[in-house]
Amino acid sequence: MTIDGTFRTGDRVLVGAHGQADVAARVILASPDGRSLMLEFPGGLFGVAGGAYLGTMPVLQQADGRWIELINQREVSVRKVPASFICPRCGAVSYNPNDLRERYCGRCHVFVDD
Ligand SMILES: [Zn+2]
Repeated sequence: MTIDGTFRTGDRVLVGAHGQADVAARVILASPDGRSLMLEFPGGLFGVAGGAYLGTMPVLQQADGRWIELINQREVSVRKVPASFICPRCGAVSYNPNDLRERYCGRCHVFVDD
């Protein structure tokens, strides 16, 4: 079990809760150790069976590395969306750190300048 204290405000994450497919969210607040987060869902709502969260969900990482929702103490999964470079010309997505740094598109075979 890895204690991942690298979550920061602004990170994009995928959240799995209540056995549902992962949902994209964004870290809008993070404690200094990155283990207490406030997540915000696009569109302002995260629907669940029997209810919904109005836009945000506070989550807390336990000592053993598991994440729980602060509100109801149920376990959730929180993982970071890997940083990516999206080519503004063709829309290709690359997770290669070199492409990200150099803004290189392997489909267009060009370095993209904005
Ligand atoms: Zn491209």
